Amino acid sequence: MKITIMGPPGGGKGTQAEMLEKRFAIPHISTGAIIRKAISERTPLGLAAQDYIAKGDLVPDDVVISMVKERLAEPDCEAGYILDGFPRTIPQAEAMESMGINLDCALEIRVDDEDIVQRLGGRRECSVCAAPYHVRYNPPKTEGKCDKCGGELIRRADDAAETVRERLSVYHAQTEPLRRFYQERSLLRTAKGCEELADTTKNVLEALGVN
Ligand code: ADP
Ligand code: ZN
Repeated sequence: MKITIMGPPGGGKGTQAEMLEKRFAIPHISTGAIIRKAISERTPLGLAAQDYIAKGDLVPDDVVISMVKERLAEPDCEAGYILDGFPRTIPQAEAMESMGINLDCALEIRVDDEDIVQRLGGRRECSVCAAPYHVRYNPPKTEGKCDKCGGELIRRADDAAETVRERLSVYHAQTEPLRRFYQERSLLRTAKGCEELADTTKNVLEALGVN
């Protein structure tokens, strides 16, 4: 099974992708997490991506595409995967098609802009394994610590209010056109993102036709 999940920044893509990773036993591949890791390790890719992320802009297509190509060639991807944050532009989706990749579905999580701005203030991420949390909607068992690895939970630098607004406008301009792209291929499924994590999960499973 090959799925891509799209949705606005902070819309719950990462959390739902983790849920699906467990459910289907296929890897969750987050381009955002790969890029942030490259930045913290100061690799050439990380250095190239740093300024874009800090401003809330997208990293250039060619950089992201070559990174995804490399990741999808790894053996754990043979049985399928859940792409989180890729493709994020029409050229990225076209590049994936020309790699010969046929997705089973493109899942869109819909959330209103006002809700996003509220939510991102409470978002946290494990500084070690990148697992996503939310102080209110998806809190860790121990405050400030990752349930999975005990790592310290941090706020992402690009979750500052100003940057969030920029990321939302980038989402509307560059990523939303993918809805039509996948609709034309009869691959689009839509799930409403809710305040409560369990409600979103229910909508996602319904949209995918599993339960
Ligand atoms: P969010 O969806 O909450 O913005 P992500 O972790 O998916 O979080 O992405 C964070 C940032 O990483 C984006 O704002 C963008 O700069 C960069 N990024 C992630 N995926 C892509 C992609 N497919 N193409 C270009 N830039 C990307
Ligand atoms: Zn962790």
